[in-house]
Amino acid sequence: MEAIPAIEGGVPVRETLLPYGHHLIDDADIAAVTAVLRGAWITQGDNVAEFEAAVADYCGARYSVAVSSGTAALHAACAVAGIGAGDEAVVPTMTFAATANAVVYCGGTPIFCDVQPDTLNADPVDIKRRITARTKVLLPVDFAGHPTDLDEIMALARQAGALVIEDAAHSLGATYHGKRVGSLADMTVLSFHPVKHITTGEGGIVLTDNAAYYQRLMEFRHHGIVRGDADDGGWFYSIERLGHNFRITDFQCVLGLSQLRKLDDFIARRRQIAARYRDELGDLAEITLPRTRAGVSPVYHLFVIQLNRERLRVDRKRIYDALRAENIGVGVHYIPVHRQPYYGREFGCCEGDHPVAEDYYARALTLPVFPAMTDADVSDVISAVRKVVAYYRVIGDGGG
Ligand SMILES: *Cc1c(COP(=O)(O)O)cnc(C)c1O
Repeated sequence: MEAIPAIEGGVPVRETLLPYGHHLIDDADIAAVTAVLRGAWITQGDNVAEFEAAVADYCGARYSVAVSSGTAALHAACAVAGIGAGDEAVVPTMTFAATANAVVYCGGTPIFCDVQPDTLNADPVDIKRRITARTKVLLPVDFAGHPTDLDEIMALARQAGALVIEDAAHSLGATYHGKRVGSLADMTVLSFHPVKHITTGEGGIVLTDNAAYYQRLMEFRHHGIVRGDADDGGWFYSIERLGHNFRITDFQCVLGLSQLRKLDDFIARRRQIAARYRDELGDLAEITLPRTRAGVSPVYHLFVIQLNRERLRVDRKRIYDALRAENIGVGVHYIPVHRQPYYGREFGCCEGDHPVAEDYYARALTLPVFPAMTDADVSDVISAVRKVVAYYRVIGDGGG
């Protein structure tokens, strides 16, 4: 007789809620931030430039511009790519809404595409169908930390005269055909939100090899201001194009520098946790584990499983609630963006438009994975999933 799930009156696997993601801040991080706070300069200063250089170096990019969030980084990249009224950007519907919102901030139209069933990344075949004369940008996402098909997507963009902005908010440190994410697309965007691979509290960055984009990104971060020559007078600046205040602070960037030193360890730990899930959940026919394509090494921002609903007596909501009752903070990433009421109303997107993403969404659950998880935490997740699945599995009616 199997154990009774907490939601059915049994005892939960653990007593406190394990979140799906969490930052890991240590004493070295705190000391670094404190030192900057005690200094004379707390907003944009030397640590910003140092952090930018360190991230660019890690990722193999020539230039980088750090900003106040990943969303601001996407917004800046879209603006610098030239998206304006009447322009289109192709965005996978399986992403966080910020990817599409950034296009709208610039006056453009996000054209959603469907995803591949195995990687949940933008499907190049569907991208191709959605390219028009107005397509300015292809904006793929490295879902869960598995790099997208950049070779195919770059080729499609070149044929269409479009640029590629890679939303790599999930994939810092991942490699694609032997190269680091950040060195591949026209511009690559990272986020430093606390659930991402490294954190600055809030923060983001745009990476590029293009000197002109770099210049424009720097201007966009700071009101569009361009400094004049000495002849113009020391006070002089001009604003040629509208920008924003998307600056990030020095104490955030010193935190980022300190976090970056631990990034390889963080990634190694995420991979260890993913390997345990594969080893210890792989035999369950009721769930499908994430797949990895040849030639890429993913970094597991998320570990998403899919419920095989024909093998379960209950729906996804019940399994979600049951795991929550075990104090396992499962999540669902994401509600397809085209299903959001705003996008339905303003852009005429509707249910049924992207069947692969919708099918995945109906079956998806995200298991906790973050570097601060202990081995006991990982065991709790595995025990809870096994317990809940065993309780709700469809028992064969063959009478044998
Ligand atoms: C986190 C995230 C963003 C936004 O980053 P913020 O730093 O939270 O603004 C954008 N795209 C994806 C895919 C994300 O996961």
